[in-house]
Amino acid sequence: MVVQDCNLRCSYCYAGDGKYHKSGIMDIATAKQSVDFLIENSKRDNLGICFFGGEPLLNFKLIKEVVEYCHEKEKEIGKKFAFSMTSNGTLLNDEIEAFIIENHIKLQISIDGDKETHELNRYYSGKVGSHDTVLKKTKNLREKGLLDARGTVTTSKLDLIHTYDYLRSIGFDKIALSPAFNLLEVEEYAILADAFIEFYLEFEKCIKEKRYAEVKKNTMFMKQLNDIHNSQVRTKACGAGNSLYAIGINGDIYPCQRFVGSSEAVLGNTFHGDNIQDEIIKNATVDNFKECSKCWIRNLCVGGCIHDNFSLSGDINSPYRPQCEHRKKIVTEAIKIYLRLNDEELHELFES
Ligand code: SF4
Ligand code: SF4
Repeated sequence: MVVQDCNLRCSYCYAGDGKYHKSGIMDIATAKQSVDFLIENSKRDNLGICFFGGEPLLNFKLIKEVVEYCHEKEKEIGKKFAFSMTSNGTLLNDEIEAFIIENHIKLQISIDGDKETHELNRYYSGKVGSHDTVLKKTKNLREKGLLDARGTVTTSKLDLIHTYDYLRSIGFDKIALSPAFNLLEVEEYAILADAFIEFYLEFEKCIKEKRYAEVKKNTMFMKQLNDIHNSQVRTKACGAGNSLYAIGINGDIYPCQRFVGSSEAVLGNTFHGDNIQDEIIKNATVDNFKECSKCWIRNLCVGGCIHDNFSLSGDINSPYRPQCEHRKKIVTEAIKIYLRLNDEELHELFES
């Protein structure tokens, strides 16, 4: 649920054209309608709502009302809600912290690393850096081990091991480092792949030193190994437009949060929930991606992220070749690492 545009003006949201894409503010009627839409359209007993922005905490009043509404609905329908949020962390305060703890909201903070790295891309208007504010405002929850970090990676400052260690040292629990593919030049894909390989090899060393708890905090590395360990034939890389949808501020329905604001990707509106046009998304399976038919990593990659396809190739059914090469390099190394794991290591990583 995208509830508000942002208080920062980071380069990520300028989408390369120098204009900031405003999303506006969701009102409570639309938010409740979205909850009702979820209840009506999901057969599951456990439902999840993730608050996104821009910056969702700018609209904390609405978040409180939505959570309260969901708790009322839980009693009525016998289903359970779980909440999560992705925030830049600049607006946390005592009241919000207490609310997050009380309602078990899983909070992920967008932070790219140390001050120098973070402020390359994340700042207020006028390019005023946001790192010090993020550190100050997240201090209490970090100290309680209640925050995860999501760092966005570009080639401007590519020391992933240092970035990861920094985020761990300041108390973030789980850490994900993900490339900002929309900001990369073609030649940067290979550079980034090499950086991730070096990063993964460092975590292989951690495994060999039996530092398993540490390894398990690296969500991206663990996902790569898990995909290999639990490999199975899949047709989609993620649940976008299937087990998850994103709702924009006016109730428009999108395949996932990264599509919000792209008029071509609107599948319907929660106020007209019986008219969802999602065949295009349902048919976006790896079996229908021409480029993937002969690709040797298709059961691990499963055609990749359809939003990356959409934004990089202009078509959700067409993977972007430089990204495919990037992925193949990383998967090759991940397989080699996996094959070097012994029985004890496999047990510790996947079964203990
Ligand atoms: S690497 Fe590219 S071609 Fe291969 S499965 Fe993934 S998206 Fe398809
Ligand atoms: S389409 Fe891409 S960004 Fe959206 S949920 Fe799937 S993997 Fe994530």
